[in-house]
Amino acid sequence: MNINKALLTRFSKIAVAILLVIAFTVSAVSCVAVPVESDTPVDISSVSDVVSDVSNVPSEEPSNEPSNEPSKEPSEEPTQPQKSSLEVHFIDVGQADSALILCDGKAMLIDGGNTGDSSVLYTYLKKQNIKHLDYVIGTHAHEDHIGGIPGALNFATVGTAYSPVTDYDSKAFENFKKAVEKHKTSLIVPDVGTSFMLGSAKCKVLAVNTTDDTNNSSIVLRITYGKTSFIFTGDAEREVEQAIINREGNLESTVLKVGHHGSETSSSYVWLREVMPEYAVISVGKGNTYGHPHDEVLSRLKDAGVKTFRTDLQGDIICTSDGKTVTFNPSKNANINVFDPPSNNQSSTSKPDESKGPTQSENNGKETKYILNTNSKKFHYPSCSSADTISDANRKEFNGTRDELIKQGYSPCGRCDP
Ligand SMILES: [Zn+2]
Ligand SMILES: [Zn+2]
Repeated sequence: MNINKALLTRFSKIAVAILLVIAFTVSAVSCVAVPVESDTPVDISSVSDVVSDVSNVPSEEPSNEPSNEPSKEPSEEPTQPQKSSLEVHFIDVGQADSALILCDGKAMLIDGGNTGDSSVLYTYLKKQNIKHLDYVIGTHAHEDHIGGIPGALNFATVGTAYSPVTDYDSKAFENFKKAVEKHKTSLIVPDVGTSFMLGSAKCKVLAVNTTDDTNNSSIVLRITYGKTSFIFTGDAEREVEQAIINREGNLESTVLKVGHHGSETSSSYVWLREVMPEYAVISVGKGNTYGHPHDEVLSRLKDAGVKTFRTDLQGDIICTSDGKTVTFNPSKNANINVFDPPSNNQSSTSKPDESKGPTQSENNGKETKYILNTNSKKFHYPSCSSADTISDANRKEFNGTRDELIKQGYSPCGRCDP
């Protein structure tokens, strides 16, 4: 049990004195009398062992001192203030992830889409008037998660930024890191179990750097708000799901952000059985070449009776919790059958949300610069470290769409996920 200094700063002197009394009682040290109203400075370290046992001590008299360690907050069950609510905005960033979480005037961004989504993020925050992100989490170093965060940080300042790594060999990651450092802060690698408060919502890191694989380095975060809870998985796969199950007790959650864009590498039966989500959200791009979401995952969710939403079909999806129940508000196609959507022709006749910029399906058709390995028939983003290792004989630059490349027999690099 670690001492939590931030917690202590919140107690009034009287509360600390009460702690001391408890501490000495517990440790059977009865020879020191502690006057309850003593002005004597208190040696905080002497109560460290019992701090976590007295989490029921009311903290209605918080000190005015600001906490210096926002990332370490008390572990008591959060209580909701009046008029409180939690909003989770699953932002449509195509074949990528991004979620904005708002609670009691605090804001957190989990992932920010691809580099090309920077302007989407900038515009989204501007529209919501979010000038400060208390927390930014880059779940893992792949571009489709951290690429667009610099756009968000061009509009908003950042308090604490979490990432599973502080270095990664890609242009996108370098830009992410620079964008964070521009705000006089730096990337922090959280520990499993790190928890913090976002307003009255409690956030806890369930996994980070489970294996060396970049997807499985994903920070998995659980947010508890009243009786409702949310799990954000990044691109974590089965191994991470199993590791969390092995470590945690009750994982039951109201909403699951489905792992790895609905890839069948994630969302195992056992994971879904433990999490038992009422709702699931798949953040995925229309017509992506990975075939995400995979049919296996869709049928697992369907079999488990999970009410599922998809950003490729429904655009931005806003979920609101009052602490007891959650409600979903997709920007389009609210009642579409996400398990068996009508063909592209039919769904494209639904009225598009005019307030939004280009969708991923439009982005997919855009000309982009890729680096080809004419020998292995892989294509990469120019920033991919694997692209640097291609010999001059096999290296070729290409300007065009990924569809053209795939038609030519090329396949996307697993590392940079182009
Ligand atoms: Zn991804
Ligand atoms: Zn990934």
